[in-house]
Amino acid sequence: MPGPDRFSALAAEGVLGLQPYVPGKPVSELEREYGIHDSIKLASNENPLGPPPASLRAIDAALADLALYPDGAAFELKAALAKHLAVDPAEITVGNGSNELLSLVAETFLTPATEAVHSQFAFLVYALSVQATGATARIAPANPPDHAQPLGHDLAAMKRLVGPATRLVFIANPNNPTGTWLGAAELRAFIGSLPPHVLVVLDEAYGEYVEGTDWPDTLRWLDEFPRLIITRTFSKMYALAGLRVGYSVSHREIAGLLNRVRQPFNVNSLAQVAARAALDDTVHVTRSRQLNAAGLGQLSAGLRALGWQPIPSAGNFVLVDTGGPALPWYEKLLRAGVIVRPVANYGLPNHLRITVGLPEQNERLLSALRSLMAGKTP
Ligand SMILES: *Cc1c(COP(=O)(O)O)cnc(C)c1O
Repeated sequence: MPGPDRFSALAAEGVLGLQPYVPGKPVSELEREYGIHDSIKLASNENPLGPPPASLRAIDAALADLALYPDGAAFELKAALAKHLAVDPAEITVGNGSNELLSLVAETFLTPATEAVHSQFAFLVYALSVQATGATARIAPANPPDHAQPLGHDLAAMKRLVGPATRLVFIANPNNPTGTWLGAAELRAFIGSLPPHVLVVLDEAYGEYVEGTDWPDTLRWLDEFPRLIITRTFSKMYALAGLRVGYSVSHREIAGLLNRVRQPFNVNSLAQVAARAALDDTVHVTRSRQLNAAGLGQLSAGLRALGWQPIPSAGNFVLVDTGGPALPWYEKLLRAGVIVRPVANYGLPNHLRITVGLPEQNERLLSALRSLMAGKTP
């Protein structure tokens, strides 16, 4: 029996190479460490309006049943989603956040003998999910900084990495942390060009924020492309990140496989009722979308006025090049009570990712930066 310092030798090989995901710093942690208060968090792409009022009412009504296990089949939530999305309930899998679905898909289809393709600067959870299975990640170079979608997915480069061992291709549209997006025509052509042994995981965590006519209604592609797995979440536009609930829409056979791998009660009962209610709270969704569009404009214009270059974003955040190492800016902003997200762990040491907040929060960030640039303490 190995000694207590030898447990790493017993762990699965894929696990040893994993770097833990580093989340945005919670407000409570910042205030504890720095002894400040009234700080704001623009670091985790959360909805600044707070949860939908309809969800809070639904949670209230469901509290009395907390002694019971949740509905493992999430029947009511799936029925509501099916109606909302015009798909069959059998095509839906619900997860503990869409993060769980990304891991479940990896667990279901990847082995150490297989490969998965994703882009450089793609959402980090793809790399983590792939690595945990022992499969090989093939990482395509991103678009160059002077591209119309700077640092975004280069589908041609991704295609070149698809081979006989490829089982999964991960695409985020829009992508986090870059905010870049792919239009309907290029995405369709890419998916249609893949061989039948390759499944496409299309992560639409920010899909509800996208404005404009080129946004593909990919749910309508499922008949033509049965190897497509679309994932979405209630964490972003629907403002329920703390409850952990997301879903995928896929061919029913794929949903059946994911259903075998998931835990029997993976989505708790409060999350199920809150998500269901959120779908109907169209007022909250409309307000969230409008607030975000205005806030994106405010942040982008404000950052440009400071001489920084924000990347055009279709999400609820902007990635901005600070023109040098970003960490000192991150730390100075922390001291000023503003939490943003450094992205050096994505290989972007000169960038910060800033979530769109309420107008006064966006202004607080911009004015803190103005003071710092003028050599003053904010
Ligand atoms: C936030 C995010 C998710 C997942 O969030 P969950 O809270 O796990 O649903 C998935 N993909 C991207 C690109 C994200 O930014």
